[in-house]
Amino acid sequence: MTPAKPPFPAMLRHPNPRGKPATKTVFVFRDYGKMVRTLASRQTGEGVRVSLKPGSMAPSETRSELLRKVRAGEADENQLRRFDELHQKRSMDILECGQDDLFDIRTVDADLPPKAVIDKSLPCDRCGERTMASRMVETGSNRLCRDCAGQDEYGLSEPVGRIFVWAAARG
Ligand SMILES: [Zn+2]
Repeated sequence: MTPAKPPFPAMLRHPNPRGKPATKTVFVFRDYGKMVRTLASRQTGEGVRVSLKPGSMAPSETRSELLRKVRAGEADENQLRRFDELHQKRSMDILECGQDDLFDIRTVDADLPPKAVIDKSLPCDRCGERTMASRMVETGSNRLCRDCAGQDEYGLSEPVGRIFVWAAARG
């Protein structure tokens, strides 16, 4: 891997060879427990990998202790005010950092997964929500979504812990 060229923001503005804005975004989540994002072009495989530098966003011990009290509902008024001040200061410090202070940014040749199969959606026989047909479960005479069939797609009994929201730009 080599240092990013062109810089990360320019690749976001011109993510495809025709110089037009991206018209759709595909999000692939790999639950590796790391603060890393890779943005890549499907056409060229070129991308940038952005990882958080160790310790670059580490909160102070004072803030961490106040955060624990705030979450536990144990903070008094002065502690809430102090936490707010430290939170604001930390936010401003991060905003004023250069990108190289926070992130390690490198160009990569991305190994992208194959394009997703486009499948028809059908209503679940129990909840009625439209569901990709290939993800449905046949139970007797019913065709159910995995929620209604009591099957977790990933075999997890607990929530993953984060919800990612992304927007697809419209060209
Ligand atoms: Zn259902």
